[in-house]
Amino acid sequence: MTRLGEHAVVLGAGMAGLVHAVPLARRFDRVTLVDRDVLPDGNVDRRGVPQGRHIHLLVPGGLTRLELLLPGIVEDLAAGGAHVIPAREWRFHMGGGRLDLSDSDLRITGATRPLIENVVRDRVRALGGVEVLDGWAARELRTTADRTRVTGVRLRSEADPTEERVLVADLVVDTTGRGSGTPRRLADLGYAPPAEERLKVDIHYTTRLFRRDPASLGGDRNVLVDVPPDGRRGGVALAVEEGRWLVTLIGMLGERPPADLGGFTDYAAGLWSSDLHDVVAGAEPIGEATRAAFPSFTRHRYDRLRRLPEGYLVAGDAVCSFDPRFGQGMTVAIIEALELDRVLDAHGLDRVGLRTLSAARWAVQDAWDLATGSDLVHPEVDGPRPLSWRLITGYLQRLLPAAHHDPEVAAAFIRVIGMLTRPPALMRPRLLGRVLLGARRDAGRGVTGAPAEDRSRTSA
Ligand SMILES: Cc1cc2nc3c(=O)[nH]c(=O)nc-3n(C[C@H](O)[C@H](O)[C@H](O)COP(=O)(O)OP(=O)(O)OC[C@H]3O[C@@H](n4cnc5c(N)ncnc54)[C@H](O)[C@@H]3O)c2cc1C
Repeated sequence: MTRLGEHAVVLGAGMAGLVHAVPLARRFDRVTLVDRDVLPDGNVDRRGVPQGRHIHLLVPGGLTRLELLLPGIVEDLAAGGAHVIPAREWRFHMGGGRLDLSDSDLRITGATRPLIENVVRDRVRALGGVEVLDGWAARELRTTADRTRVTGVRLRSEADPTEERVLVADLVVDTTGRGSGTPRRLADLGYAPPAEERLKVDIHYTTRLFRRDPASLGGDRNVLVDVPPDGRRGGVALAVEEGRWLVTLIGMLGERPPADLGGFTDYAAGLWSSDLHDVVAGAEPIGEATRAAFPSFTRHRYDRLRRLPEGYLVAGDAVCSFDPRFGQGMTVAIIEALELDRVLDAHGLDRVGLRTLSAARWAVQDAWDLATGSDLVHPEVDGPRPLSWRLITGYLQRLLPAAHHDPEVAAAFIRVIGMLTRPPALMRPRLLGRVLLGARRDAGRGVTGAPAEDRSRTSA
């Protein structure tokens, strides 16, 4: 591999930062991963990743690509206690019924976010030249006098705010998440900051851990009860390490799942599938509930910028945060890291920021379209609903009922939402035929695609 420089600095050692360090470690003498948090040694929650207490899984496209980036990582995750759950053990309730996933070889992780991050961090730390500098927060960028090239970054100690240091680098990557300072830093340097696209969904999560009886739900290890178009409530249960269920209840458009055990259980009982209630009812709770609110999701259009300083890149949630219901964020970060790898191979450091943002645009776009497209099905969500959206939404309303009894349609759908294949795969003639055939059969049986029993509008 061609050596590209002496030192690369990655700001933020969350999932995006960790995976971006991999292609850099192959090409720079040293890579420094900087994080504001003091990073724990074990599978422990931390302040800088508050979302880590809620459901976090690697969808099939993320798990497969993480293995490309770090060969053997699936085994490492399993050795660390993660479940690797085949699709036949998922109970996905979407579009008014359960998807038939009996004939699919897809897999997801069943683990807490701290476990996933910890296993990936150990692998990245073991790469030659990688150093973690924790307890330091990124501040301003250092540039050449004409401000066309980033030459480093100033850091401030979290333990002692009077203590500062400057890291000199050939490349700086910002993966500090949704609170990233890059728009302000660009403006300070005289660059146009990126335009913002925002979708306000006002999502609330409440999460609890329970002791898991391996025989519960017939041994199945993942449940998803989707929020129906005319409802506000949904939830997910995932078998995670140490014999536990991680259960996240979801409320959209201001609906807040309760934290107390009784209210939590009642909320699960009100969902349109009984599977989540079956997980929770009577199970031994572990610890207290955690709540979080996500008023909106933001896409920063770095991919449309004409100018970005040389030696600078932005990735992960700092570029785009997605509705977490679709579990895409870590996968998009992994794809961005793989695109960085290709760009560095083809062009070295020449315009690496703009080139990588442009190369990874497809992944951000697909994930954003899938998530916002589903959010906009809810009439109360404010946003543009062009003809293309209406056509796709209409098609999916036919596809999902077909996926309830046709494993080929179900697998094709999961491959797209799991980011293994791109959305046009759903329009292939063979699949279109199966969907239309299914729709005709459903019409004959009076199936509408609405939940058989939608209890999700009842208030807590
Ligand atoms: C509730 C919820 C559930 C989710 N579930 C899933 C899921 O199931 N699957 C999935 O793929 N994705 C999920 N996501 C998205 C996922 O968390 C992120 O997309 C993913 O972690 C990539 O984020 P990141 O590394 O860019 O940012 P983060 O994970 O937020 O990491 C940012 C890092 O930067 C550090 N930092 C911040 N500021 C500074 C600074 N100034 N200086 C130094 N360090 C700094 C922080 O300490 C942190 O370590 C979920 C998100 C939420 C909110």
